[in-house]
Amino acid sequence: MADLSHTDPDRGLASYACHESASLGRVHREPAPAGHRGEYERDRDRIVHSNAFRRLVYKTQVFVNHEGDLYRTRLTHSLEVAQIARSAARALALNEALSEAICLAHDLGHTPFGHAGQDALNECMRDYGGFEHNLQSLRTVDQLEERYAEFSGLNLTFECREGILKHCSLKNALLLGDIGKRFIERRQPSLEAQLANVADAIAYNNHDVDDGLRAGLITCKELSSIAIFARHYQEVELRYTSISERRLIHEVVRRMINEVVTDLIDVTGERLIGAGVRTVADVRDAGVPLVGFSERVATEHRELKQFLQERLYRHFRVVRMTTKAQRVVRELFRAYFDDFRLLPDEHRQAAEEQEEVSGLNGRARAVADYIAGMTDRYAILEHSRLYDPSVPQG
Ligand code: MG
Repeated sequence: MADLSHTDPDRGLASYACHESASLGRVHREPAPAGHRGEYERDRDRIVHSNAFRRLVYKTQVFVNHEGDLYRTRLTHSLEVAQIARSAARALALNEALSEAICLAHDLGHTPFGHAGQDALNECMRDYGGFEHNLQSLRTVDQLEERYAEFSGLNLTFECREGILKHCSLKNALLLGDIGKRFIERRQPSLEAQLANVADAIAYNNHDVDDGLRAGLITCKELSSIAIFARHYQEVELRYTSISERRLIHEVVRRMINEVVTDLIDVTGERLIGAGVRTVADVRDAGVPLVGFSERVATEHRELKQFLQERLYRHFRVVRMTTKAQRVVRELFRAYFDDFRLLPDEHRQAAEEQEEVSGLNGRARAVADYIAGMTDRYAILEHSRLYDPSVPQG
């Protein structure tokens, strides 16, 4: 049998990639993982086995979960993001396991009902410290998961946690210690974190085109005003004159993703050389993110995003759904916050404990944690249990 005990997880990495040997480590010290996997692989495995990760399957991206089985959910979105980031990480000799772990965790703190849910919860939390989904993802892996005997949360490495915290208000950064420092010092995160960020945008732009077309909310004709779509659409249509619309769309989306990922890899590679970057410290001090697109692709990508914003996310059928979803979140919050006896035991206990420490802010935070953890269907069910007398209490 092969001896795997000396596998070096840093082997083959570029000098500017995150090396495990230079990791800032975990908050709670732990023995190194067994020889067959590295520290970042352990992070990834902990994320995959978490409750929050499993719940992503019933959380929405754009469409509410029960609208159709073929639409992306947060789980399939996270997997697509990880796939894109891993391909690029490998091509650039960056740390694939770290980038994958960040991608799989990046949406763990997302509320039910996508951005609509998060906006509603943020509004409810306005007087109590606000709600940011990125920060909630970090809070989930740092505190909320209850799986280990020795600590709360997943005790992930600094590099993984840093990548999960994509944005953060200055006010919150000041409360976060080490992990918030870069927002105050205006330094960049690792290339693996930057990659996860761009992979996220590539994934949602492209799969929202696919889902939007499938739902009939946008059409190929409308999308033909967008350069990157039009170019590939014409190419595929010319070459394959008799394929079905479904295949045609898939072929176009596939080519769009390919084009932007290839551009991302080429341009980032050139930038790293051009900037004379040699180490992770150089990356952090570069002043700007080094992972990115060429000017042309960046413009086209923005154009597509703009289109989706105007035509898809603001389509009346989407707005009708998001308005309903926001009402559900607001009313759940109101009910629990006004009377925390309505919360299930463990969450009521958390609300009482946190209220003792930080007053109403604490109570509100415990309610927000509970709501943020809900899946779409659970939020809908729980809302009807609270507000509809004809629904059995279950
Ligand atoms: Mg995302």
